[in-house]
Formats: sequence, structure tokens, C-alpha cells
Amino acid sequence: MKIYIDGNYYSKEDANVSVFDHGLLYGDGIFEGIRIYNGVIFRLREHLIRLYESARAIMLDIGVTIDTMEHNVCECVRVNEKKDGYIRLIVTRGEGALGIDPSSCKKAIVIIIVGDIQLYPHEYYTKGICLMISSYRRIPSACFDVRIKSLNYLNNILAKIEARQAGCFECILLNTDGHVAECSADNIFIVKNGKILTPSVTEGALDGITRRTVLELAQKSGIETAETTLTRFDCYTADECFLTGTGAEIIPVVSIDNRVIGNGLPGELTQNIIQSFTTFVRSLS
Ligand code: PMP
Repeated sequence: MKIYIDGNYYSKEDANVSVFDHGLLYGDGIFEGIRIYNGVIFRLREHLIRLYESARAIMLDIGVTIDTMEHNVCECVRVNEKKDGYIRLIVTRGEGALGIDPSSCKKAIVIIIVGDIQLYPHEYYTKGICLMISSYRRIPSACFDVRIKSLNYLNNILAKIEARQAGCFECILLNTDGHVAECSADNIFIVKNGKILTPSVTEGALDGITRRTVLELAQKSGIETAETTLTRFDCYTADECFLTGTGAEIIPVVSIDNRVIGNGLPGELTQNIIQSFTTFVRSLS
């Protein structure tokens, strides 16, 4: 594994950053998780646009143009000879003084890790998973806009720990208005009366690349979609439910807080979407 840090490649053992990096000290930085399918980096430009928008929102000067970044990511994938895998692209605020003030950080650090994708158990996709509604609420945009894909994931991590302790793989986070936002590391969709619905990003959801792809694929096949407000009730009474994310792709949900969704099996529309998504990513070359 050859890890890119600021223009140089290092082995896993030698790839280190300073303990004074504000990414470590305060979670001051941003990241992207990107898939490589059959040698093609999936929607790289979209991931980079999201990264650069996150940077703008937190006033982080990445130090290279988006075109150079695109080139560097492609080069790192080539150097690592990965045909199918996962890219973790990180930009930290860089090394600075111990106080939180980022003005002491002179230069952002860019890290690119190209590794293998850790796939979820096959039965998640064939049997579906159970979800719970977290007791944690998604951070409101008045405090922090979660469309910024920042290195500070403690809100998500606490929700994940709670879900795991309750025997669930994932959980739904409501926002402080009680509307569905997203899951701890995935976007959420429900199907109701043949329509595919997902919370709008202003409810506290990341503008997921897989989410966008699913909306596009559904629209192309004539399925009605909407980005809307959803509540706990909408989830409990959904005909179908599924999650989307770069790592997860599309995972069917068969129960929420012990309420069985549909007939307790992955729904028909969900399976169609999984099928079109798989065909779509397999056709990349
Ligand atoms: N929400 C959160 C909080 C995430 O961290 C992610 C990424 N794992 C997603 C949604 C899904 O986004 P994407 O499809 O871009 O991976």
C-alpha cells in the first residue's frame, strides 16, 4: 500500500501525520470516501466538488486546484494498482499551535489512502437489516451544517455505538424538529405507494453521492421520487425502506424499532433499485 501525503508516497508503517495536526486535535478537516469499480473511480468529480464545498464552508484552503486533486487521486489509484477498492481522501487543517484557532495552521495536509473495500455480510442484502431510531439527534444546521463532511463524526459515532449495543447495524437520526435526517453513516429512503422518498438535505442529511445516483436511476426508470420531510410515523408505516452509502451501496431495511416493514423481506422496488445500481456500476469501464 502506497499512501499519498502532500505529494509523497509512504508505506503504511511510515505514513504519519504530526500530533499537532488540528485534524487530530480538533477534528478540523474534511474527507471523502470513494469507490473504485472495475478500474473506474465512481463519480470522482462529484466527490471532489463536495470536498471543495466542505472546504469553502469551513474556510480551509486545500492548497491545490480541483483539477490537480483529481489528477493526484487518479495517480494514487494507478500507483496502488487497484481495480476494485475504496479511496479515503482526507484534508486536515494541518499542523498548528495547541489552541483551536486555525490561523496558527500554515498549510493543509492532503492524504490519499487507496485500500480494499470492506464489504458488509451478504445476508444484509438478501434478508435486509433492522434499524432503530437513535436517542441522539442530528446536529442542527444552526450549530453545524452536516452537509460539511468533516472529520468530526462524534455525533454519528455515539449513535452507532447505541445502535450496535441494541443489536442493530444502523440507526435513524431525527433532527431537532423530530424529522428524519439520515442514518449514522448512510442516507435513508422509504417507499410509499410506489413513490421513493428521502429526507431533503436541509433536514440534516449529507448530500450523498449514492443517494443522488439512486434518485437518478429511479427517475430514469419512471419511478416517482421526492426529497421531502419524513417523520418517525412515515418510517414505521413505509411499504419499503433502504439505506444508501458508498461502502454499503444499497441495503434493504426490514424492521424499524421492531415494526416490520412491508412483509418483512426486502421490497420489490428496493430490489429493482439494487439491480439497476449493480448493472450501472458493473457497466463502468
Ligand atoms: N450520511 C453520512 C453521515 C455518511 O457518512 C455517508 C457516507 N458514508 C453517507 C450519508 C452516504 O454518502 P455517500 O453516498 O456519498 O457515501
